[in-house]
Amino acid sequence: MTTKRIAYKITPKNPSAHLFEVTCYIPKPDINGQKLFLPVWIPGSYMIREFSRNIVWLKAFTGDALVDVQKIDKATWQCAPSNEPLAITYEVYAWDLSVRAAHLDQTHGFFNGPSVFLMVLGQEDQPVDVEIVRPQGSEFDTWKVATAMTRKSAQAFGFGLYEASNYDELIDHPVEMGNFTLAHFTACGVPHDIAITGKHRANLERLTADLKTICEYQIRLFGEPAPMDHYVFLIMAVGDGYGGLEHRASTALICSRDDLPLKNEGERNDKYRTFLGLASHEYFHTWNIKRIKPEAFMLYDLTKENYTRQLWAFEGFTSYYDDLVLVRTGLVSEEEYLTTLGETITRVLRGSGRLKQSVADSSFDAWIKYYRQDENSTNSIVNYYAKGALIGLALDLKIRAVTDNQKSLDDVMKTLWHQYGQKKIGVPEGQIEKIVEEIAGTELSTFIAKAIYDTEDLPLKDLLASVGIELMMRSSENTSDNGGKPSKNGSNPRAILGAKISNDGKITSVYDSGAAQLAGLSAGDNIIAIDCLKVSGRDIDTRLKTYDINTEIKVHAFRRDELIEFNVNLLAAEKDTCYLKIIEKEEDTSIQLRKKWLAGS
Ligand code: ZN
Repeated sequence: MTTKRIAYKITPKNPSAHLFEVTCYIPKPDINGQKLFLPVWIPGSYMIREFSRNIVWLKAFTGDALVDVQKIDKATWQCAPSNEPLAITYEVYAWDLSVRAAHLDQTHGFFNGPSVFLMVLGQEDQPVDVEIVRPQGSEFDTWKVATAMTRKSAQAFGFGLYEASNYDELIDHPVEMGNFTLAHFTACGVPHDIAITGKHRANLERLTADLKTICEYQIRLFGEPAPMDHYVFLIMAVGDGYGGLEHRASTALICSRDDLPLKNEGERNDKYRTFLGLASHEYFHTWNIKRIKPEAFMLYDLTKENYTRQLWAFEGFTSYYDDLVLVRTGLVSEEEYLTTLGETITRVLRGSGRLKQSVADSSFDAWIKYYRQDENSTNSIVNYYAKGALIGLALDLKIRAVTDNQKSLDDVMKTLWHQYGQKKIGVPEGQIEKIVEEIAGTELSTFIAKAIYDTEDLPLKDLLASVGIELMMRSSENTSDNGGKPSKNGSNPRAILGAKISNDGKITSVYDSGAAQLAGLSAGDNIIAIDCLKVSGRDIDTRLKTYDINTEIKVHAFRRDELIEFNVNLLAAEKDTCYLKIIEKEEDTSIQLRKKWLAGS
């Protein structure tokens, strides 16, 4: 193959062995020895993943002649100096069923650019061609391709030639191939495709209509025209899964097939609402982080961690709007929205890590903390998604309150879009706070600084009261009580151990100052008896409920292979569970404020 441009050819060479073969043609290599590099992380997912570990072998050629190639660090190769065009061929092992890397078997193929396309160092600004090749064998005759990458000579949904204007664009268009289900809709004039891979019986009519509603609302929120001329939802439906990754003109989602709506189903159920929230979240990123970007992300350095203290806004505000868009468009009711909000508040309040780490610090350390959680994370990390969403809520309600409902967080998002996103200027650290103050037209720096750089709980009770909502706290009823709703069984708190326990009796987390921690129980301990009676993991919570608070009981557990006896003084479940209710006999002003907030007008 001779080409004028850098060209990649990706072939699902051996689907049953999960191997893609990739060739990168370089017409004008660096005469001092071309270097090639594979990213160590994928934008949107802040963790070092070392994609190069999946390159099985790599060879370089000029014509048919092998060229010497050496690895010079974990992710970089250097070819011997050459004046002739180079072809680098390598094999990539693809068996990661997530939205972040690559996956290939006889049922489908999926890849993200950072995990399969080597960067031609020094030429990363050059336009590239990409040939996506159909795997060999008649069983693959019906396979199609779904991607937002620009088609060159490839037919719609076909194998063949695609292109990108530089490396950054190349790796921001994930590709799905297989026998996926297709659906289409137009939102504000922009064609949108939905490609669903995996066994499913989704009601495409409902899915299409609901996604269209979400997309149109968001496009209008930021203002028409939409920043992309085409958008693709790549959905992988599995038995049990949840996740998504945002891209400039597409998103890769993984969900449980039960999350998708079925035919003849009446109301939207909880699972489907969660799916719509996920789709809404990733779509909102089309603006908030893919185009409105932290300064540190304007030019990604894919060789190492890129630090920003602003993920509380880029992930947090996105998390705030994902569900808010659903209630504003009528896809969920006001009551359902308040339940979800109560659950988010509960999630934040249950982690004592919120009292030790600010959301700014959590953003900065995402690489080593939020993305690499362990048994102690609940005691040491604040979730910048959930607390960031609540900061979004707090700022929205605050701005509405001080501007007599004339301004809101919507104006902050629009300003960020007009002044930064549209102009391709990165958002400097500290700038979002300034924009919030400008929009509010009053001094809010102390309030904002406390929310972002401090660890105090947000004053949500007062802020919610301004829109006629009472924030109620109670203790949890059982281990699957996620909050959001009033108690079913009255208000007496139950006795608890203060630990998270798996179904097989193993402690997975021990909470700060809980009964388990005070008695010396640790994560990893396997509880086998309570009060000298055998117990299984599932029964521990029910068994403990029958004891009075402050009762001392014996707990037997294995730590590794050693049996240890613990004297545990059972403590009351704390009031860490939130639900929201409309204040009875509320003032007219709060009704108006709430209506405007939830209607987005
Ligand atoms: Zn996100």
